[in-house]
Amino acid sequence: MTKTRRCPICEQGTVRPVATRAAMPYRHVTALEPAWEVRIPTCDNCHERLIDGNTARSLDAALEAALQTLQTQLVNEAIDQLATVKTQRQWEKRLGLSPGYLSRLKSGKEGSVVLTTLLSLLAQAPSRQWKQTEAIWSGRDQAAAEVLSFPARGATIASTFHFQQEASSQSASVSQLRDSQCVVARFEEAA
Ligand SMILES: [Zn+2]
Repeated sequence: MTKTRRCPICEQGTVRPVATRAAMPYRHVTALEPAWEVRIPTCDNCHERLIDGNTARSLDAALEAALQTLQTQLVNEAIDQLATVKTQRQWEKRLGLSPGYLSRLKSGKEGSVVLTTLLSLLAQAPSRQWKQTEAIWSGRDQAAAEVLSFPARGATIASTFHFQQEASSQSASVSQLRDSQCVVARFEEAA
């Protein structure tokens, strides 16, 4: 038995439950597709959705399930991307997370909008962000912070060091040089 009634909005159409998975705003998500079809009373004339208490509860359950799936998917993509430059444990240490926390996030056992957002931002440029987070947590080591914040100065330091290295017939990559704080000391001695 399907309950029908006259639409109170346009007063012409008939309101009938329509099964839908149409995306809609939910919490912090702009447009989320419910995890399964939900029957929403909808006018066949003006297409207005008349959501009562029961419909709202069904919709919330389907949207909440979809949000958990989305969050787990985003967190997995981000952590996999971060793991291309440093291990999960190294990232956990850097971000002050307990051992295994990132694995628990990946399995969907823990969830955090803030962490999912942060990890997704870090994952956009994992190598650069690893160095940026190093600078943030440098313990106010100004030399380390400066070399990481100003690429031009870092490049000068690197070329100075490269010159010194060549003189002693050794080689070193620019990325290794930027990791080395003794480079900064040598540069400042030379300046
Ligand atoms: Zn209507």
